[in-house]
Amino acid sequence: MAELMRALRKLEAGPGAALQQVPIPTVGPRDVLVRVRAASICGTDYHIYSWDPWAAGRVKPPLTIGHELAGEVVAVGREVTACKVGDYVSAESHIVCNQCPRCRVGEYHLCEHTRILGVDTDGVFAEYVAIPEQNVWVNDKDIPFELQSIQEPLGNAVHTALSGDLTARSVLVTGCGPIGIMSVPVAKMAGAEIVIAMDVNEYRLELAGRLGADLLINPMREDPVEVVRGATRGYGADVVLEMSGNPSAIRQALKAARNGARISLLGLPGRPLELDLAADVIMRGLVLQGITGRRMWQTWYQVRSLYRAGLAERLRPLITHRLPLEQVDTAMELMGSGRSGKIVLVPDLKA
Ligand code: NAD
Ligand code: ZN
Repeated sequence: MAELMRALRKLEAGPGAALQQVPIPTVGPRDVLVRVRAASICGTDYHIYSWDPWAAGRVKPPLTIGHELAGEVVAVGREVTACKVGDYVSAESHIVCNQCPRCRVGEYHLCEHTRILGVDTDGVFAEYVAIPEQNVWVNDKDIPFELQSIQEPLGNAVHTALSGDLTARSVLVTGCGPIGIMSVPVAKMAGAEIVIAMDVNEYRLELAGRLGADLLINPMREDPVEVVRGATRGYGADVVLEMSGNPSAIRQALKAARNGARISLLGLPGRPLELDLAADVIMRGLVLQGITGRRMWQTWYQVRSLYRAGLAERLRPLITHRLPLEQVDTAMELMGSGRSGKIVLVPDLKA
């Protein structure tokens, strides 16, 4: 094995990322060395690349970025038992402490000391990455690497969608970024009666339609509250999966929900926002639920099971671009344009 590898590094506090030759990571006794075969780009990577205020306050360069991956195990530390050389794996990006009260009662996704792969530690936009054994998930080998890689954000969609009953429910998905789009077929497979998708971006709405949304709403062109009520016998949606983080979408989602609806909030507003709690939440008995990360490991088992039941095949159109590490600037430009589904970096792809 060569001593050096290519890695996309954030070298200093400021926009951009540099492709560098760095040493292949060494594996500790409980680490797994993975040869990266596909690494999908998340909004978080875009924030770090463009160096927005969140990134400036959180990330400490230098480090290798990226946290969504699929690859092949090429070495394991001497105490590792969870996987072996040759296995195909992905990773849960949240590295939890195992010691805080939330971890000790099995609520690992709520760990008080979570560190994130590629945010707080060296990440996966590289030829190789060392991952703690406790974060490794062994994949079915017949799933293409790019679809293995997107299981981490898919887990966000699954965790959000399946945090309550969906059978025979009307479901409104607000925000059709990759995660909102993924939640559409998940909700359909869970038995939703109708899935309504809303976004201001026509490219993404169209993709949501291709993945199975029954009704598409662009709030720039029509009143989402009216359309949702029209599609739900006048009552409003039983369930809202909020995947935009946009303040006006969140306010419209509350109004478009029926009395007593479940509102599962995954989207992250960039700043505090104002809600009419009395009229839109309390007096209508809405149940607001914050969703963070994926349940370890319940969500991953759900994702595996949905993949085996045909979800992997259904998600294929979501992967719109594949690029080598060398073309990170092009990839990030595409992310910024909003004219992409999931973009996957492939280290062995020729530039
Ligand atoms: P994304 O930014 O690609 O998608 C957001 C979508 O919302 C975009 O398509 C955008 O056009 C749309 N949007 C903007 N304004 C809108 C409006 N007024 N009405 C309807 N849609 C509108 O993000 P993503 O990667 O798909 O992630 C979805 C959200 O989830 C983001 O806010 C992200 O930060 C958040 N997130 C949360 C967690 C968590 O653990 N809670 C994890 C991952 C991502
Ligand atoms: Zn913990």
